[in-house]
Amino acid sequence: MSVFQATDFNHHEQVVFVNDKHAGLKAIIAIHNTAFGPALGGCRMWDYPSEEEGLRDVLRLSRGMTYKAALANVAVGGGKTVILGKESAPKSAELMHAMGRAIEKLKGRYVTGPDIGTGVEDMTNIRETTAHVIGVDASKGGYGDPSPSTARGVFMGIRAGLQHKHGSADLKDVKVMVQGLGHVGYNLCRFLHEEGAQLFVADVNAEAVERAESELGAIAVAVDDVYSADVDVYAPCAFGAVINDNTLDRFKAGIISGGANNQLDQDRHGEALKELGIIYLPDYVANGGGLVQVAAEWYKEPEEIYRPKVDAIYETCLSILKKANEDDISTSLAADRIGEERVLSAENQVTTAS
Ligand code: NAD
Repeated sequence: MSVFQATDFNHHEQVVFVNDKHAGLKAIIAIHNTAFGPALGGCRMWDYPSEEEGLRDVLRLSRGMTYKAALANVAVGGGKTVILGKESAPKSAELMHAMGRAIEKLKGRYVTGPDIGTGVEDMTNIRETTAHVIGVDASKGGYGDPSPSTARGVFMGIRAGLQHKHGSADLKDVKVMVQGLGHVGYNLCRFLHEEGAQLFVADVNAEAVERAESELGAIAVAVDDVYSADVDVYAPCAFGAVINDNTLDRFKAGIISGGANNQLDQDRHGEALKELGIIYLPDYVANGGGLVQVAAEWYKEPEEIYRPKVDAIYETCLSILKKANEDDISTSLAADRIGEERVLSAENQVTTAS
């Protein structure tokens, strides 16, 4: 298996293959970049069809974390871990202790946290063998669920989109279609409702929809009608690849800002949105509020310090929209370029200082 020649290898600083035969642990830790601070990124457990797939995922995800952190203006770098194994399998404390020992050997260059297939209990077990973990139980200093911060950032993305399009970020009577009423989507609905937005919601979970109807006066939309809903804003908060060849022609919304990861099916769909005149707030920027909170947990910053950083996603989104306009490029490309500039400048500072 090639590492340096792998498609997703992108000047990663370090890739560690972990094998603990006693605990039955096989994992890969990828540290993409530490110019801003320790590489931070969750520990994913997934039944990859092959080791190559696991490597590809950890390289891609760790790189993504570098740019997400750069755009969120937090002092952490990009990293990720994948444990090769069934996400639904019971995870023994022994397995997580072994994972913690491997992270400990990196001497603070990498900090882990929960991700798909792992949770608070696993992080609390990892905490027993390394201090380089966040997302632990609140009784052990954890900050709890980051989803409300993620939702707050998405809300800021919507406001920035409105400001850019209409010269006002006022949400009164603005029609917003929220797809997915889970941890992020429902919190987003609350923020929007408080500001007088008119909510349209869809979820496969009928209870969540009924709750939004009764608590927030939302109007239910069938899950298949989400993309063609006659609204001002579309907020995807369920799953990725929602902007694709089948949905592009159906959008009536002029602004897209949501919490879901990887909303563009392919990079070219970012360009297509630009051609259609739809303002797209890149997902990894709009949903960066959760990362701001977990970075704050690492640095023990109180809410009054990190909350304004979540709200600053508004300014970041405005600067992305401005750059996209000036350079006549898609917003996704504009965000990538700003991220690259910031990473390069941080790397130069590190090189100059050393
Ligand atoms: P969640 O599982 O709590 O909520 C997802 C919701 O989507 C559920 O209510 C589910 O019933 C609903 N859903 C599933 N299929 C649907 C469909 N076909 N149509 C409409 N709704 C459907 O997840 P979450 O934590 O709210 O995260 C939502 C998205 O945001 C995910 O893509 C996640 O990766 C991403 N994200 C979350 C965070 C966070 O802090 N939670 C941070 C960054 C990115």
